[in-house]
Amino acid sequence: MKIKDRYAPSPTGLQHIGGVRTALFNYLFAKSLGGTFVLRLEDTDRARFDTKFVQNLYDTFRWLGLQWDEGPDNGGPAAPYIQSERLGLYRRHAQELAGAGNAYYCFCSPQRLAALREAQGAEAGYDRRCRNMGRGEQEALEARGEVPVLRLKIPLEEGAATVFRDRLLGTVTWKNADINSDPVLLKSDGFPTYHLANVVDDHLMGITHVLRAQEWLPSTPVHVIMYRAFGWEPPEFCHLPMVMGPDGKKLSKRHGATSIDEFRRQGYLPEALINYVALLGASYEEGKDMYTLAELAARFSIDKLNKAPAVFDYKKLEWYNSRYIRGKTDGELARLALPWAREAGLFGAQGAEPAEAQYAAFSSAMPLIRERVSSLREIPGKIRYLFAEPDLPPAADFIPKKKDLAETVRLLSIGRGFIAAIGPASDREAEDLAKEQAGKAGVALGDLMTPLRAALTGSKVSPPLFGSIRILGRERSLARVDRALRFLNG
Ligand code: GLU
Repeated sequence: MKIKDRYAPSPTGLQHIGGVRTALFNYLFAKSLGGTFVLRLEDTDRARFDTKFVQNLYDTFRWLGLQWDEGPDNGGPAAPYIQSERLGLYRRHAQELAGAGNAYYCFCSPQRLAALREAQGAEAGYDRRCRNMGRGEQEALEARGEVPVLRLKIPLEEGAATVFRDRLLGTVTWKNADINSDPVLLKSDGFPTYHLANVVDDHLMGITHVLRAQEWLPSTPVHVIMYRAFGWEPPEFCHLPMVMGPDGKKLSKRHGATSIDEFRRQGYLPEALINYVALLGASYEEGKDMYTLAELAARFSIDKLNKAPAVFDYKKLEWYNSRYIRGKTDGELARLALPWAREAGLFGAQGAEPAEAQYAAFSSAMPLIRERVSSLREIPGKIRYLFAEPDLPPAADFIPKKKDLAETVRLLSIGRGFIAAIGPASDREAEDLAKEQAGKAGVALGDLMTPLRAALTGSKVSPPLFGSIRILGRERSLARVDRALRFLNG
């Protein structure tokens, strides 16, 4: 059987972890079985629709490197893939249901429905007042200019239930009496609701598998009733476990970033997000953590999905990000971190582009911090001292343990001699030279480094010093040592 599945977002918000997880699982499922992955825009909620969310969808998926086989931008045999461009299809199918007596027109005003909710609570749903309205009454209302909605007739015979199979949950039996209203299919503005458009499109687009979050489970009996009413075979359903925050509640802004945009701005790499999100409710291979998209696709199996909710672990994502940062070459990392460096004003004013020499220094600083950051955003702060003279730290920061100021000044002078003596050398050779000079002077290498580090980087902890000296160059390094000596002596 040729697999075809889809991601069907409503462009009413930014792409977030939950949506991307659904998209990714559909992508992986299709790819793992040589199938087709479709993107369909479910833009029927006109009140909440915004083109900026469509743009965000495209930007996000391009950045993540997830490409659909058929969709609004690249077309396909079932085009168009945007629901607002398919309205005629939904109306035709709605009329078919009405004609067969499986749907009915409802003239209840929004005010009446609001009063009903007010009186009975939202859970009580619609009281089905128009379900058995005669044709005469309908015509009279229409003549008065009232525009009805179309509602699905949920079969309500005694004990009626809707049964369907879910790949993950097994057989689901849903009492029809628990479907709290006859859901609207066609709104008075002529737009379909989610239920109608979703079912019609899944059928017409040849969708064989519906993988979606478990929050959609209550919609599925409604959909199955519609498939039956149309005389269509439903696709296979697989409702994915929810993604929770660390407190066991549905992942939301309260827990931290949830939109992919936010993670991107925080300096996360797409590989890290893909890798981590792929693990939210699925497993792949014992003892293997790092997967490319292709490796995930080769290993994805619907039988290895978890039933239990997945907990989103920000720390684990951060771990993945550091791992992917470590895997970058100097050139790649510099290119990736450049926007943050510009933004942080590393090369002059905020936003300033680096001069050629600055970019070279920036690039050669990457090995110094590659293993010390967990996001691109942290990079500029860690190496700012290489680009601008740091403030002098307090004198205490220069003084090694169990030493005094006079001894510190002497150590710094030895350090100055060491810097003056470094020729063109690798960091290793520079370190050997420092050891040799410390030995000659009868001081410990660590003690020699402490005041030097404070003088050069303005801090007690910093990226590796020998590399820093190399990037700063002899002249700037000596000037900083001299400034520190003046400070400590004065
Ligand atoms: N448009 C729905 C959403 O926003 C699609 C749900 C489904 O996959 O059926 O997620």
